[in-house]
Amino acid sequence: MCAIVGIYGNDNAARLASIALFAMQHRGQEATGISSSNNGKIHTIKNRGLVSEVFDDDALRVLKGNMAIGHNRYSTAGGDSILDAQPVFAKYKLGEMSIVHNGNLINKDEVREELTNNGAIFQTGMDTENLIHLIAKSSKDRLRDRIKEALNKTIGAYCFIVQSRSKQFVIRDRYGIRPLSLGKIKSGGYIIASETCAFDLVDAEFIRDVRPGEMLVFAEGHDEPESIQLFEPEFRPCAFEYVYFARPDSEIDGKNVYKTRENMGRTLAKNDLNRDFKVDMVVPVPDSGVPAALGYAEESKIPFKYGIIRNHYVGRTFIEPTQEMRNLKVRMKLSPMNSLIKGKSLLVIDDSIVRGTTSKRIVKMLKDAGAKEVHFRVASPEIKFPCYYGIDTPNQEELISHKMTKDEICEYIQADSLEYLSIEDLKNSIGADRNYALESFDGDYFVTK
Ligand code: AMP
Repeated sequence: MCAIVGIYGNDNAARLASIALFAMQHRGQEATGISSSNNGKIHTIKNRGLVSEVFDDDALRVLKGNMAIGHNRYSTAGGDSILDAQPVFAKYKLGEMSIVHNGNLINKDEVREELTNNGAIFQTGMDTENLIHLIAKSSKDRLRDRIKEALNKTIGAYCFIVQSRSKQFVIRDRYGIRPLSLGKIKSGGYIIASETCAFDLVDAEFIRDVRPGEMLVFAEGHDEPESIQLFEPEFRPCAFEYVYFARPDSEIDGKNVYKTRENMGRTLAKNDLNRDFKVDMVVPVPDSGVPAALGYAEESKIPFKYGIIRNHYVGRTFIEPTQEMRNLKVRMKLSPMNSLIKGKSLLVIDDSIVRGTTSKRIVKMLKDAGAKEVHFRVASPEIKFPCYYGIDTPNQEELISHKMTKDEICEYIQADSLEYLSIEDLKNSIGADRNYALESFDGDYFVTK
């Protein structure tokens, strides 16, 4: 869970990169960084904090040049060192390079062990640093061949942008697990970004998604990026991008995220048609449950109401290290609309249940505020397995659906009823025209090469 951006061929490259990162702030709030290339030198600024805090005018003035890459880092418990911010920069035999990465390399420990056994030293715990070493150690003459060689030893879900002093190399893994799109900037040059929501802010036109297994090369003297199919594609985009992670206005691999979420809500409503209960209103858990709740309300003709108000100034609850802190943060973040819900029966929708902290807290909060009944609906299937392909999930013991059945969870969160989408429902809601990465729901860890 991170955002990456590359800008090539625009004199305002670093500024545009910072704007794109700002649009993708939801993909990571812990740290941010940009490397620009100018006159044969790469400059990097990275720090902990939000894009708007790190990239003020002074910082952007330093980052000259017509190409830049950038990154937003998502916190994972424990790994919040500034050293783990990206881009990762290195000098090596062919000159200088800088790399940004979104995803997770599943063979990182084996590769690192081999590298350290051969004397390599590392500054960070990041899998991205492995790639730098593999590229630097390669004996090939051209950077593109070194990257290819390094990727042959790299297994996992990844989108990389490697920037040299004059070129950019963009690579998406053969499964296309994490999203990556290409756009043309109206004021000149190209943009590569994790999500298309970044294109609108920099005034860029969407061209196409980077293909699974494809490398794009941006180089001087070429009007268009060169495309090289590095690996045979086996497309399996991540379903969780549609469920939770991406911004609703992004088009991920040709599908509008908002519409897929609305479909998920409609499907929940259709599944409820023959169930015997009556509610007065559909209430989203803001913000992630809103599109699904709208879909549910439209399909069921039950009124949609903002029965829960979100305080936008509270940080993420999900990654707080202790259960007490997570409970407190949920309380600070979400408040009931007392006058609206008192004495009423509610159909509450959230996008997912992971540990069960949020849902339990919400049901209690609504009942304390006088709600008569709370029927909880989840716009995704039960999360039973941790994700190793780039979404931050806790270990399996913490996943409530690993430990409890649906009925037990319903009792645990004190809801009057609880329903999820089935895996089939989820696939159909996003679009049954392709396979998805669904490992959090079905445990199919398909990435093998
Ligand atoms: P939990 O309280 O652990 O059950 O987490 C569920 C809540 O966290 C839901 O409201 C989701 O919108 C949100 N959520 C789900 N997955 C993630 C994730 N990987 N990172 C941050 N938040 C998440």
